[in-house]
Amino acid sequence: MNKAVVIGSGAGGAMCARELQGKYQVTVLEAGRAFRPFNLNLDLIAGFRRTGLLFDAREIGWIFPAMRIRRAGAGMILVNGHGSGGTTTISTGNALRRDGALRALGIDLDEEFAGLSGEIPVFSGHQKIWRRLTADFFSICRDMGLDPQAMPKMGDYEHCRGCGRCVLGCPHGIKWDSRRLLEQALKNGARLLTSHRAERVVHEKGRASGVLARNGLRQKWFPADLVILAAGGLGTPKVLQDSGVDCDATLFVDPVLCVAAEMENCQQNRELPMPFAVQMNGYIISPYFDHLSFFFNREWRRKAGNIYSLMIKLADENRGGMTGGRLRKTLTAADRERLEQAVGTCAEMFQRAGVDKSRLFFGTLNAGHPGGMLPLTAAQAKTFHDPRLPENLFVADASLFPTALGNPPILTILAMAKRVARLCRQAG
Ligand SMILES: Cc1cc2nc3c(=O)[nH]c(=O)nc-3n(C[C@H](O)[C@H](O)[C@H](O)COP(=O)(O)OP(=O)(O)OC[C@H]3O[C@@H](n4cnc5c(N)ncnc54)[C@H](O)[C@@H]3O)c2cc1C
Ligand code: SF4
Repeated sequence: MNKAVVIGSGAGGAMCARELQGKYQVTVLEAGRAFRPFNLNLDLIAGFRRTGLLFDAREIGWIFPAMRIRRAGAGMILVNGHGSGGTTTISTGNALRRDGALRALGIDLDEEFAGLSGEIPVFSGHQKIWRRLTADFFSICRDMGLDPQAMPKMGDYEHCRGCGRCVLGCPHGIKWDSRRLLEQALKNGARLLTSHRAERVVHEKGRASGVLARNGLRQKWFPADLVILAAGGLGTPKVLQDSGVDCDATLFVDPVLCVAAEMENCQQNRELPMPFAVQMNGYIISPYFDHLSFFFNREWRRKAGNIYSLMIKLADENRGGMTGGRLRKTLTAADRERLEQAVGTCAEMFQRAGVDKSRLFFGTLNAGHPGGMLPLTAAQAKTFHDPRLPENLFVADASLFPTALGNPPILTILAMAKRVARLCRQAG
């Protein structure tokens, strides 16, 4: 059987591995380790804040290796998953279809989305476990004419316990993540190698012959008839650059800023995160307890159970890139203007909830939806293949998005990856 190497085991990689195994003998190379939820007591960690030992968000990797944090420009930090399941393991389970920009290029993913709806359970009826203040904010949004919608969640959410730990990995196996696809691929004979970081794809005369990867101190060679690169919006451009293929300086990240206030015993830290959202022009607003700010931002040195926070997630301009592995990404003037507008909307929501503007504080600017550096174009609508790539190397992750979504991307990445796998199966 022909060999396929899939780089990365997140949303795109796991889907391709599952879909290609059988037609190909699939090996998945994953840079991180096998995922384990973070199971330490959060109150204990919160106590550490007083010691001053928690000062840099990048420290999170010491205690939770599945979460990786790096600095971008303008004080922004970038968050991604690093281990089996990629960033899906630390997601909040939101399941929104967002393929408008792809459709505008002539890409119709209806069939793929239909396939996904048959295999991934999605549940929106979780209102009964919302806390009172969240229900109040939902009404406030409705009164403001903002049309709030309960967030569809991927997984068995009718059994969700509302523990609030989604971004640390669901300890109760409720939330869907891409390890479910990996399990199916492995059952059908695929091989998953964790702690194997792909360094570069070796290619000659327009064809890839395999992948060089690092496992600890050892460099290993994986010959391949087909290579699928799905190392995520930051990992994929790095592997491509090191393989002699330049990407575009069109990185977006969906910046996130939380606007928060102290509200007595609201217990948002123990509630389903992002239970609803309002869609605005270029951003969304959704209730979200920001664990990273709680641990590492001085402004958040308050009692966890008394903090209520609204997340702004922005669709940023796709300007930013990578040179020699170094990241360049800041907010543009238009991004800042939109962010300011969004902060004003949050302030009005808090005002209606009885909290004066002067009592608001902010979270650390962060982002966890990188992508867009190998954007699909109308010319690639049928092939999903960028002519810069060797003919048997495909990208199948967030790098393919033409513009920022400012919205949860997993479902749409899964649909794109499903299409890439179908095209490879047909050609192989
Ligand atoms: C806190 C948080 C919450 C989120 N919540 C949601 C949500 O609710 N809904 C939603 O739709 N989206 C959510 N997202 C975003 C979503 O999880 C990601 O956009 C999505 O998983 C990206 O998929 P991907 O396939 O592009 O990459 P990833 O899922 O990031 O997978 C890439 C994988 O490649 C591996 N890798 C990187 N480099 C290499 C290499 N050189 N060799 C081998 N392996 C490599 C990485 O370790 C990683 O496992 C969230 C993100 C964050 C940070
Ligand atoms: S709130 Fe808790 S139980 Fe519900 S999905 Fe998230 S981590 Fe799992």
